[in-house]
Amino acid sequence: MEQFLDITLFIASILLIIGLRKLSHPSTASKGNSIAALALAIGVLVAVFYPLKTQNNNYLYIVIGISIGVIIGVITAKKVAMTKMPEMVSLLNGFGGLSAALVSLVWIINNHFTGNSGQLFIVLLNLFLGFVAFLGSMIAYGKLSGKLQDEHLKIPFSTIVNIIVLIIAITAMVFFAYNGNMSINLLYVFIAVSLVYGFTLVAPIGGADMPVVISLLNSLTGITAAISGIMTDNKLMLLGGVLVGSSGIILTLLMCKAMNRPLLSVIFGNFSSAKGNEASVGGNVKQINSSDLAIQLAYSNRVCIIPGYGMAVAQAQKVIKDVETVLESNNVEFKYAIHPVAGRMPGHMNVLLAEADISYDKLLDLEEANDYLESTDVAIVVGANDVVNPSAKEDPASKIYGMPILDLSKTKSVVVLKRSMNPGYAGIQNPLFFKENTKMLFGDAKKSLEIILKELKEL
Ligand code: NDP
Repeated sequence: MEQFLDITLFIASILLIIGLRKLSHPSTASKGNSIAALALAIGVLVAVFYPLKTQNNNYLYIVIGISIGVIIGVITAKKVAMTKMPEMVSLLNGFGGLSAALVSLVWIINNHFTGNSGQLFIVLLNLFLGFVAFLGSMIAYGKLSGKLQDEHLKIPFSTIVNIIVLIIAITAMVFFAYNGNMSINLLYVFIAVSLVYGFTLVAPIGGADMPVVISLLNSLTGITAAISGIMTDNKLMLLGGVLVGSSGIILTLLMCKAMNRPLLSVIFGNFSSAKGNEASVGGNVKQINSSDLAIQLAYSNRVCIIPGYGMAVAQAQKVIKDVETVLESNNVEFKYAIHPVAGRMPGHMNVLLAEADISYDKLLDLEEANDYLESTDVAIVVGANDVVNPSAKEDPASKIYGMPILDLSKTKSVVVLKRSMNPGYAGIQNPLFFKENTKMLFGDAKKSLEIILKELKEL
């Protein structure tokens, strides 16, 4: 039986690798998701049956726990709106961290608060990272959903506080590991310190730095899953954790590069000199209506769409595809400029555009897009804001100063589709809206594009 379970776990591990590999391309991602889900379901079943020799398997508790989890998971996954997906991912990530922390807690209790130095250090590290990932992800959830505002989470001298709490946590881990034991009261204190660090790590990080934190929290949860896999001798959990942890670290570094932020400055608080006292922004706002924009598009040679979070809110991707089809049949070249942090989660725009069957070849990354935008006739900004904000280049006092943007200064004509003059996620005004080459088309992006499509078909 044990051999059979081992072989099953091995097959599940291969399925998980195949599933994750397929996630790397939009055309195979859906299949990859199902394969990875199957692998994990097998992993859960094997984990339930594996400890054959342990007498205390209380299957009733296990079945109740799994049933509650499955019911909540299925209902929320079915109900959650696409625009709320980043928040959902944050919550799930947090619960992953909490589970890993609980694995460590159970180990400590089962081993009567003692262990050899190496074991105890790893178990406490897992406990620490698990609680950091848990509380950090909950705060990220609050920030993404708009329930927590950056202004309410300011910590005085956050960098110093952050470093002190981290030093306390590391010292405690080394001390307990060296002694080979700890009391229950010290365990409570250690948990509290871990939670405080989760708070001081994420709370002060605001606005445009959030993507880095989110991928960092993902990788922390992956690392805790890997350590839990070692502790419970579950090879699938170890493999999944290693894959998530390592890909999370790669993504974190890519996000840092995309945001032009050194990783350490994000982790230890904002070392950037920008205080967020942006220069005042104002001037004349020029408007355009959908009919005029349709005519302008029909007579263009090159059109570029710049999607942002507002496209996800409006669910405008399918209408954009229809506009693309009509314009291409009129020999207009049509491309998409993708900023790495557009939307609210890494790859957000790619996923939405793939869902609308928009060809991957038409998607330009930041550098390619900035070259292309110099020779573009019309750039349509569909619900993007921070990622096209010139303050990132022009205003050293801006909190997004230094972040690479999609540069529209040389584009012949820019039209911004949004509902109002409200700022984006970073909460700062955008001088682009007042530039000579920019016009605003106010309204829900999907509705505006539907009118444009109708006009184009009638031209
Ligand atoms: P922004 O959040 O800067 O702007 C989105 C704009 O969309 C808003 O100004 C809003 O204006 C508009 N909008 C909302 N709904 C609609 C609608 N129905 N129709 C038309 N417009 C609409 O988005 P960006 O994509 O430009 O930038 C992403 C931001 O999110 C960055 O600051 C990034 O750092 C941050 N972030 C990104 C994460 C990631 O991993 N990608 C994770 C966490 C944060 P209005 O209300 O006037 O319509």
